[in-house]
Amino acid sequence: MSAIATAAAVGPVWFDGELVAAENAKLPVLSIGLHNAICVFDGIRVHESYAFAVTEHVDRLCSSAAAVGMTLPWTAAQIAAAVEATVAASGYSEAYVRPVAWRGAEAVGINTAGTTVHLAIAVIRWPEPQAVERPPLRLTLSEWRRPAPTMGPVQAKTSANYLVGSLALARAHSDGYDDAILLDHRGRVAEATGANIFLVRDGELITPVADSFLDGITRQTVLRLAADAGIRTHIVRVSLEDISAADEVFLTGTASGIAPVGQFSDIEYPRERPVTETLAAAYADLVFAHRTKEGPRIPSV
Ligand code: PMP
Repeated sequence: MSAIATAAAVGPVWFDGELVAAENAKLPVLSIGLHNAICVFDGIRVHESYAFAVTEHVDRLCSSAAAVGMTLPWTAAQIAAAVEATVAASGYSEAYVRPVAWRGAEAVGINTAGTTVHLAIAVIRWPEPQAVERPPLRLTLSEWRRPAPTMGPVQAKTSANYLVGSLALARAHSDGYDDAILLDHRGRVAEATGANIFLVRDGELITPVADSFLDGITRQTVLRLAADAGIRTHIVRVSLEDISAADEVFLTGTASGIAPVGQFSDIEYPRERPVTETLAAAYADLVFAHRTKEGPRIPSV
């Protein structure tokens, strides 16, 4: 996901239960969330004023918080309602919602016991409608790797897990690429800096086992859509050679949806992407299912 400039594009912020103007949504400099990275967040996409998969994202926010020892003082249902209310207050029809929870500033040091837990929800106007076609991504290989699952809560969306992704993306951009592939601790392909990765070989879908990186909600949705469409899927260890030999490669994430990859390093992929296109069409149907009477129904397997 490329950065969205937030200046002049943030609606009122839900801050510990109250809507405040964005410029008043501030936290103390000694917040533990900032120093010790006891901070988790999520990202929700809004299309045509409809927040997609709110329940899944809010549930993940709560489990990310639990993974770093925080019990949020609101239920998942209350947080989902707060997300909807903050989207409505923003007036933005195309937006990105960023709920973020962190520990407060009552202590300095490693011992964070007894410090307060906070939650804010910001709605950022999305600069372009979903329909805008973006060119296929150009990927490079990052020098950084995703940490082993023994090195921290890798399935939680913690701010700490974003350090490596941000460094890798900055390097990719300065080298003239759109994004980077990160390997896992074993040297196998993990994901991109802020999105999961899929490849297609002989019409079949392949994606890495999500044991050392975020098992994205879009990834899980795509796997279900593929099963629905009768596309054979393999969740396996993926090598860089597999990426190089693929017929199609695409990334998945809330912000970018299903984003085709046109190039990895000096390898260019064919322009025909039948499996990517089938899945992208099915995903778009789902994301815009609020237009229909039945509403969205993420298929289950
Ligand atoms: N991996 C990382 C590191 C991410 O930041 C994201 C975006 N949240 C994803 C994968 C994809 O997750 P999702 O489909 O839930 O947005």
